[in-house]
Amino acid sequence: MRAAVLKGIENLEIEDVFRPTLSSEEILIKVKACSICGTDIRVYHHGHKHMRFPRIIGHELSGEIVEVGKRVKGHKVGERVAVAPAIPCERCYYCRRGMQSMCINLTAIGYHYDGGFAEFMRVPEDAVRNGCVNSIPSNLSFEEAALAEPLACAINGQELSGIGLGDIVVVAGAGPLGCIHLQLAKAKGAAKTILVELSRERLEFAREFAAPDVAINPSLEDAVKRVKEETGQRGADKIIVACSSGKAQEDSLQMISPRGIINFFGGLPLDKPFIKFNSNLVHYGEFYVVGTHGSAPHHNELALNLISQGKVKVKELISHHLPLKKLKEGLHLAESGKGMKVLITP
Ligand SMILES: [Zn+2]
Ligand SMILES: [Zn+2]
Repeated sequence: MRAAVLKGIENLEIEDVFRPTLSSEEILIKVKACSICGTDIRVYHHGHKHMRFPRIIGHELSGEIVEVGKRVKGHKVGERVAVAPAIPCERCYYCRRGMQSMCINLTAIGYHYDGGFAEFMRVPEDAVRNGCVNSIPSNLSFEEAALAEPLACAINGQELSGIGLGDIVVVAGAGPLGCIHLQLAKAKGAAKTILVELSRERLEFAREFAAPDVAINPSLEDAVKRVKEETGQRGADKIIVACSSGKAQEDSLQMISPRGIINFFGGLPLDKPFIKFNSNLVHYGEFYVVGTHGSAPHHNELALNLISQGKVKVKELISHHLPLKKLKEGLHLAESGKGMKVLITP
């Protein structure tokens, strides 16, 4: 089969490899769609501590089951599925308390196991057993189903941020995840949503597509001041920083309401992980700062349902469709910020 094999840092080759063979507890899927994520770009440039080369990357994927191990129950050939890439062990301290994204034995498709930038992908035993394989609702395309993965991460983030009825929510960053967060916050009952984004193009796109109540470009006005104005000087109840910007994180600490919750949802660049802030803001504001990354298999299932119900739209986020052989081009496109979501069809 054709596959995009990452052989080392920035060394990606499209080549023929053996189609995976299955154990009696595994599933083989024909990959129909796999989207490029910021993490793929990070891994392409820097590798990952859990990754051994050569590795087929790609973890936001959907496909059709073409082979099922003898002992697999509940799945059949021909079924359309989305696969949640993070595989919890379901036995450790955190899994047993429902915090699968913090699983100490977590493995992941695209890191520990070969991923979706290939014609076929083997779904490992633990993933099959622990609920990572979810049926795609009949009204969803494979493309939309692949984007259940980023939505699942947003659901995990908003759960820990406690976003709910009546909240004033600020989202910093109008990339694909910012647009997803805005829609999700509305679906959860936010009273007002405020988007902050530096890029004029992205702000315009998000204004049309995700319709925040207020859109702020911090290069044109003081974002902290404007958020204060929009909230009766109180500050926002919840803030999601959905970009890799230390400045955006620092600003969020000045925009949050007392007892509010900020989520540092986007990781900072590896070489610039530090921010500076006035600790007394926290002392007097009594607010919380949380962070989230990844998601649990049940978030993926929830995500598929939300897209199916039309509560979160993802199709419009796909700016480019590319064949597998143009994956490298896709990575550059996604990195340049020119595209939103780049979708690969193997
Ligand atoms: Zn991802
Ligand atoms: Zn675990």
